[in-house]
Amino acid sequence: MSKLVQGYEVVIGFETHAQLSTKSKIFSRAPTAFGAEANTQACAVDMALPGTLPVMNMGAVERAIEFGLAINAHIAERSIFARKNYFYPDLPKGYQISQFEIPVVQGGEVSFFLEEGKETVRKTVRLERAHLEEDAGKSLHEDFIGQSGIDLNRAGTPLLEIVTRPDMSSSEEAVAYAKELHKIVTWIGICDGNMQEGSFRCDANVSVRKPGAELGTRREIKNLNSFKFMQQAIDYEVRWQIDQIEDGHAIQQATVLFDPDTGETRAMRTKEDAADYRYFPDPDLPPLVIGRDWVERVKGEMAELPRVMAERFVKDYALPEYDATQLTQSKAVAAYFEATAKACGQPKLASNWIMGEVSRRLNASELSIEQSPVSAAQLAALIGRISDNTISNNAARQVFEGLWNQEGPSGSGEGDVDAIIEAKGLKQMNDTGELEKIIDEVLAANPKNVEEFKAGNAKALNGLVGPIMKASKGKANPGQVNALLMKKLG
Ligand code: ADP
Ligand code: MG
Repeated sequence: MSKLVQGYEVVIGFETHAQLSTKSKIFSRAPTAFGAEANTQACAVDMALPGTLPVMNMGAVERAIEFGLAINAHIAERSIFARKNYFYPDLPKGYQISQFEIPVVQGGEVSFFLEEGKETVRKTVRLERAHLEEDAGKSLHEDFIGQSGIDLNRAGTPLLEIVTRPDMSSSEEAVAYAKELHKIVTWIGICDGNMQEGSFRCDANVSVRKPGAELGTRREIKNLNSFKFMQQAIDYEVRWQIDQIEDGHAIQQATVLFDPDTGETRAMRTKEDAADYRYFPDPDLPPLVIGRDWVERVKGEMAELPRVMAERFVKDYALPEYDATQLTQSKAVAAYFEATAKACGQPKLASNWIMGEVSRRLNASELSIEQSPVSAAQLAALIGRISDNTISNNAARQVFEGLWNQEGPSGSGEGDVDAIIEAKGLKQMNDTGELEKIIDEVLAANPKNVEEFKAGNAKALNGLVGPIMKASKGKANPGQVNALLMKKLG
């Protein structure tokens, strides 16, 4: 059951443009590198000047195949390129080459975990299709000279447009989907995922309806290029649509833009229908034929996918599915986990530390795991000292702090685990004799608690454990303290 907003159900479908990581354009040999001087990277083919012919870039097709395999989709044996006709200053050729009726990738699904209240649930979003197309140029509005210019460098850059079914029912779910999709395309390396540079941009189609009613009219929020704006834009749009309907207005299908400065969405144009584009098969390009042998070859060459790796983590390391999914958020995190788990032989502890303390510190310092000041070997050594009872969990956090701040034994910056334990005096008291002495003293000093405990008040034990831990300067092993107390109190 999806959660309601003011009695309305939210329906969201996504269209994502992932820029494919080829060196050259989708139908020409012009380079795709970002940031070059305006109009130095567009060739005659990208502008469809008379006499030129587009030639399919097989690298772009291969990336589409990889994507299809990654999401369990059908790779079409034969797909068609079409011309999508429209006028816009950044598209001097007057049409965009895209795929319309028969896309190269059909179906498939993306699944991920979502926190719903106190629960973590698995969600699956079905994909409609993913098709190959070319990007258009860019209008540059140069306020300082009061003029606009056109930069055609981006014209002909290969894109994979990934379209979902309207399967999402909250902004949180939409963002979780977008993050998972981003993970997949960057993991398999078909897209660099740089959202600021526009390599991964999402359009969110949003509508609302009363539960059980037919799908409402949608508005499409264009070009969301950060996960934060995505969430804000959808939340604003949902409230706006509900207000409109509650005020008795009908929603008009439209394309809208999100303004991060005001936090509002604003209509850009009323939405065209497919018929307005007068799609027709591009006579310059033959059908795209993909033999099954090609698909098999690509499959054989692909690295382990995140969901396959997560399944392996569940099997090989006996991790819960949730941990396995979190640890496969990127190749680097997965590698860090595997190195730690192998070195310490405690996969669940390694997972807890990486998803807990390590992630927390990395997030707070805006560092990636590759930049972690604490290496997998150091974390493994730390975990080893917890499981051999040298230090308590509490002390371990202090050691971690020391490792993080690179407090080496002699300013070496190595942050050696044992040296930090030694220097901070964090070694757990495992000498029973010494501990028994402390316990005897505490028992003698607190006869009232002892009496109450013996009379059946289990809580009175806390009044004893506290002083014992304190007297041991936090170095007593809580499990051992409990065991000894029970023995002494009968
Ligand atoms: P178009 O051809 O105009 O792009 P599509 O039918 O291909 O329209 O749908 C585009 C996206 O909009 C898809 O992701 C789809 O899931 C989503 N969508 C379609 N209808 C709705 C709706 N009523 N509410 C929310 N999303 C929708
Ligand atoms: Mg569309």
